[in-house]
Formats: sequence, structure tokens, C-alpha cells
Amino acid sequence: MPIKKNLRIAIDGPVGAGKTSAGRLLAARLGYRFLDTGLMYRAVTLAALDGHVPMGDPAALEALAARSDIRLDTAPGGGASILLNGKDVTARLRSPEVDRSVSIVSAVPGVRAVLVEKQRQIASGGDIVMAGRDIGTVVLRDAELKIFLDASGQTRARRRYEELRASGGTVKYDDVLAGLTRRDGLDSSRPASPLIPAADAWLVDSDGLTLEQVVDCMEKLATERAR
Ligand code: C5P
Repeated sequence: MPIKKNLRIAIDGPVGAGKTSAGRLLAARLGYRFLDTGLMYRAVTLAALDGHVPMGDPAALEALAARSDIRLDTAPGGGASILLNGKDVTARLRSPEVDRSVSIVSAVPGVRAVLVEKQRQIASGGDIVMAGRDIGTVVLRDAELKIFLDASGQTRARRRYEELRASGGTVKYDDVLAGLTRRDGLDSSRPASPLIPAADAWLVDSDGLTLEQVVDCMEKLATERAR
């Protein structure tokens, strides 16, 4: 049965739960657009690092977010490239420097307000899968389908470690686990839009599931929702 148009699907969850991989595949199956909102917080963080904006200055970070021109390709099947002020910064967004600072930048309420506004504009056409931390609780509180994707810390760290090794990195597993635990701690304990499942979210635990199985499960939820 063809899926009803205009579903907005929110996928939230901690670091390394597979939101981006699963969300992108789900969007491709449904012919929907996909937005990884984490890239937007990463872009502002990169702009702050490059521009030597102090991480302890919330007003300066908010002003920076407001004047940054961030463009993402959300087209179905589109690439994940992201332009910051006209430059392709995709390759730099997942660097260790950005990983270390992004949760400080994303905890600033003014930065969130600027990016949430942009995210809502992008979502306004419907037919979208959006991944992040606060999509179901804040950005799209009225999304037709909300999924909270989780997995144990060990599983998430192992996946992230394998990804980094596969792309030529020389990281240690313990460091990956420590970085992930720190970032989750900051994201879950911040006063502004902390990482928590929405009350009406479906909880999907990806421990022991393949990526395909996770996407199958999400697609089934979307199809049921669309009836
Ligand atoms: O999803 P990803 O790990 O790339 O997100 C990077 C960081 O951006 C998160 O650790 C979190 O601090 C922030 N973020 C957020 N809200 C979102 C998406 C990401 O606070 N909707």
C-alpha cells in the first residue's frame, strides 16, 4: 500500500544509536527527505572553532549561529554534504575537535532557538525523516511518528569504533567509549531540550539488530501510522 504523504518522522536517541544510517535508509525507502540535525550543531561548532569564538560566551555563540548560512541537501537519496557560508565543510564536521565541543555549543538556548527555527522551516513541507535529540520533544512536537532509537553504551561505542577504524582512524575503543559517555551525559543533563524520549515515542532498541532490521521495524511503524 502506498504510504500517505506528509508524514513527519522524528528519530531521536543518543550518540551512535544509528539514527543517521537508519533514518537515511528509511527516508530512501519512503521517498522522503532526510535531515540530520546534528550536522547543523556541528556546523555552528566548526564556525566557532575556526572563528575563535569562545565556547564560554553564549551570546557570541548565538550571534554566530544567527549569521551562519548553513545549507544541507535533504533531497530523497541526496548526499549528506553541508555548506557553511558557501564552503563545503562536510569532511570536517565529524573531527575530534568538533566532537569535543559540540555539546557545549548545543547546550546554549539561543543557538538552539536559531537552529530549531531553521529545522521547522525545512520540515514544513512534510514527507521528512528528521534525526536528532529533541525532534520529538521540541522541534516537531506534533510529528505523526516519533521513534527513540537506543542501544547499550558498549554496542554504540563498538559501532562507532569500527566506523572510525574503517575510515582509517587510529582511535582506541576506550577513548571512543569515554567520548560517547561524556557527550551523552552533557546532552541528557542540559537544561535546554535535554535528550529524553518523548512520552509518545516508540522505543526501538537496536542491540542485536542489524541496520536492515532496524529500518524494517521503522518502516512498519511508518506504514501503520499512515493508514
Ligand atoms: O547526532 P550527532 O552526534 O552528530 O550530534 C552532535 C551533537 O549535536 C549532539 O551530541 C548534541 O549535542 C547536538 N544535537 C542536539 N540536538 C539535535 C541534534 C544534535 O543538541 N537535535
